[in-house]
Amino acid sequence: EEQSIAQVVSDHLRDIPDFPEPGVAFKDFTPLLSDGAALAAVVRDIADRYRGRVDHIVGIEARGFILGAAVAYELGIGFVPVRKAGKLPGETLGVEYDLEYGSAHIEVHADAFVAGAHVLVIDDVLATGGTAEATCTLLERAGAEVVAFEAVIELGFLEGRAKLAGREVHTILTV
Ligand code: AMP
Repeated sequence: EEQSIAQVVSDHLRDIPDFPEPGVAFKDFTPLLSDGAALAAVVRDIADRYRGRVDHIVGIEARGFILGAAVAYELGIGFVPVRKAGKLPGETLGVEYDLEYGSAHIEVHADAFVAGAHVLVIDDVLATGGTAEATCTLLERAGAEVVAFEAVIELGFLEGRAKLAGREVHTILTV
């Protein structure tokens, strides 16, 4: 019997309570990454949604790098990293955004895109949507056109989609 891709994700996901701090239930998808058939199914599922529509995959540090690079390879297109401040060696553009506690600063290489390049942004988890929205804003400042944001898991109760209103957003499993 054929399993839905959401079921595959659900079967290879675990909750780690109180990580990285008390009260947070961390969605750990390393069981999905370590299973070859499950990983391939998820990568193909994502790739098939965007085939012919995007020029680059953008992955958000760090778990978005793993999935993003695999999807880029599957589509035969390039990969661009969005990293925490101070990690990229070339000239960068950056954006600062608020977290629940404190703030974060992410960067992309200033010359990563030719103007109007179509990109898909990938991360593991859509939580509050702050990281996703800041990334999309940053990419647009760098000249890219954001086609969509894709995450494997969505924390529905945090309503991250509201921050991405007007954008194409797809997630495989909402919890
Ligand atoms: P946010 O900006 O709140 O949407 O947070 C998104 C980033 O934090 C993503 O890069 C996720 O990998 C990570 N993240 C936030 N909450 C969780 C969680 N409960 N489990 C795993 N990762 C999370």
